[in-house]
Amino acid sequence: MALYVVATPLGNIADISQRAIDTLRSVDAIACEDTRHSRRLLAHYDIHVPTFALHEHNEAATAQKLIERLRSGQRIAMISDAGTPAISDPGARTVAAVRAAGLPVIPLPGPNAAITALSAAGLDQPHFLFVGFLPAKAGARQQQIGALKTTPATLVFYEAPHRIEETVADLAALLEPQRTLVVARELTKLFEQIVSMPLADGPAWLAADSNHRRGEFVLLVSAAPASTDLPAEALRILRLLLAELPLKQAVKLAAEISGIAKNTLYQTALGMKAQGL
Ligand code: SAM
Repeated sequence: MALYVVATPLGNIADISQRAIDTLRSVDAIACEDTRHSRRLLAHYDIHVPTFALHEHNEAATAQKLIERLRSGQRIAMISDAGTPAISDPGARTVAAVRAAGLPVIPLPGPNAAITALSAAGLDQPHFLFVGFLPAKAGARQQQIGALKTTPATLVFYEAPHRIEETVADLAALLEPQRTLVVARELTKLFEQIVSMPLADGPAWLAADSNHRRGEFVLLVSAAPASTDLPAEALRILRLLLAELPLKQAVKLAAEISGIAKNTLYQTALGMKAQGL
């Protein structure tokens, strides 16, 4: 009696754990985001377990039926079309309902497009912020990008081919042009491509070749540059101290030496660290 949250391949059908296959073979039923989509994966691994649909439009009602089945002693797995359920995919509401009912939820880790892109991007930065899909409407999208501008972490976006040009154009227009853009498309698939460039070059790169605009995308934008609003001398002191001391101690000393508020220096220090300065 448990709900198993099972990650499935992003493209390469071999990217699934043995534990995931064993679990999918042995459960009483599999809740699929799209039963037709998952048919190929299940057939490939000789998994012949009843499936039912659990997607964003029926998640609330279906979760209740799923809980009744768990209460009757069944073991049920949940999969999405690709990657990890509940990450820019349905699943979170079901998990919340099952946990609220006091029933066990067991995660089986595996592929995720954001982590896969980060692992091969070579951005040496300690933090990342998973944003996922930006709003489809231009105004809301631009507002959200603006709100993320000073975040001292690599920004991770998901994007579909029909919006990739608009999104990259907005990122290039609204964020610092010298930040690094990594485009990771078709990960684990035949036409996988992972390229880095200054953010300012993103729109031209997409325009250069129609293949660059095809497939599924993860976009990474390196962390916000350290704030330069502070006097140069304060930045110099902070940088020197950060090279020698833990962040908190460096900020405390820099605040004493420069007379600038600790909070302000703390944000700048986070930005410097994120940039690897
Ligand atoms: N749950 C999935 C995960 O764990 O990554 C994400 C599902 S979300 C509906 C689909 C989006 O994930 C795509 O639009 C794309 O941005 C990204 N994605 C999924 N597979 C990908 C792949 N093979 N290469 C690049 N991006 C991918």
